[in-house]
Amino acid sequence: MQATEIRLASRPDGFPTMADFAVVDTEVPAPAEGQILVRNLVMSVDPAMRGRMRDTKSYAPPFAVGEVMSGGAVGEVVESTVDAFKPGDHVLHQLGWRTHAVVDAKHAVKVDANAAPLTTYLGVLGMPGLTAYSGLLETAEFKEGDTVFVSGAAGAVGSVVGQLAKLKGAKRVIGSAGSAEKVRHLVEDLGFDAAFNYKDGPVAEQLRAAAPEGIDVYFDNVGGEHLEAAIDSINLHGRMAICGMISQYNATEPTPAPRNLVQIIAKRFTMRGVLVLDHFGLQKQFVAEVAPLVASGQLKYEETIVEGIRNAPEAFLGLLNGANTGKMLVRIT
Ligand code: NDP
Repeated sequence: MQATEIRLASRPDGFPTMADFAVVDTEVPAPAEGQILVRNLVMSVDPAMRGRMRDTKSYAPPFAVGEVMSGGAVGEVVESTVDAFKPGDHVLHQLGWRTHAVVDAKHAVKVDANAAPLTTYLGVLGMPGLTAYSGLLETAEFKEGDTVFVSGAAGAVGSVVGQLAKLKGAKRVIGSAGSAEKVRHLVEDLGFDAAFNYKDGPVAEQLRAAAPEGIDVYFDNVGGEHLEAAIDSINLHGRMAICGMISQYNATEPTPAPRNLVQIIAKRFTMRGVLVLDHFGLQKQFVAEVAPLVASGQLKYEETIVEGIRNAPEAFLGLLNGANTGKMLVRIT
């Protein structure tokens, strides 16, 4: 048996390229005591991985140049040295970007392929879903009757934010995304009240037209011009959950601060960062509430699946370019 893994070949300067990754064929590793050998079936690519390609201090350590990258994955146990896992079990763990992973048993979580498709444990019922749930309900303190604006709305996190807000009684939900097809998807498939393509014109103007009475909640996945537009449109005592700023992840120069932040005084709105790692305590509550909504089709999800471990770098670049609708995943076997 041969294994394949993706290593970070170099640190990107600006938008990453294929040359920043190395696809390496190697031996299948053997598990030591307390470990399991997992054949990965599907892995996640996430915007946060762009941050870890940079050599800067953050909440997660940078990837080392020359070493295999990592991230969420679901696989099948093929060999186990512990009683808690048996060959054939499906597990969620953090050693993606490789076909075979030796995982410390304490860092693996069993998942049930009969309860939900395995891919959903990396998307709507996994980390992105929990980010949406905790960011909307805890960080932004969403309440019934709010008008909600979410950027990156057709992506893994954004699509859950908008739909949850609707299901929980939002007055109006507005989303922005980067193509006409995504805008159609938001309104016609996911039930957003309004959506616009941020590439069609100034975001502030498009948002004002979509939310003439202003917004009460902004869920930020994008930053930059979107954040400025949200500041312009936010109502008195509005709340912002700052979840991501993907428009700035490949910047080579310092990015401008929101130029209109002075409005925070008159409007007394709040801006709070959300980091999913702080909210794992909500995981049980989140799954108990959201899994039935997914199963019944009340909360819909899309996945964009790229085939084959060798195409993982392409999937990651595609994610940064908006090639995905819903969760971007790589099917390994
Ligand atoms: P998505 O599924 O939303 O994929 C990323 C999307 O970003 C792309 O599909 C693309 O869609 C959009 N995008 C790329 N470049 C730009 C740009 N310059 N301007 C506007 N949109 C852009 O990813 P996730 O749902 O996984 O993540 C969404 C955000 O949430 C990211 O910012 C991520 O970093 C953040 N996040 C934060 C977490 C936390 O704990 N704080 C946890 C998980 C995610 P389009 O076609 O619309 O441009």
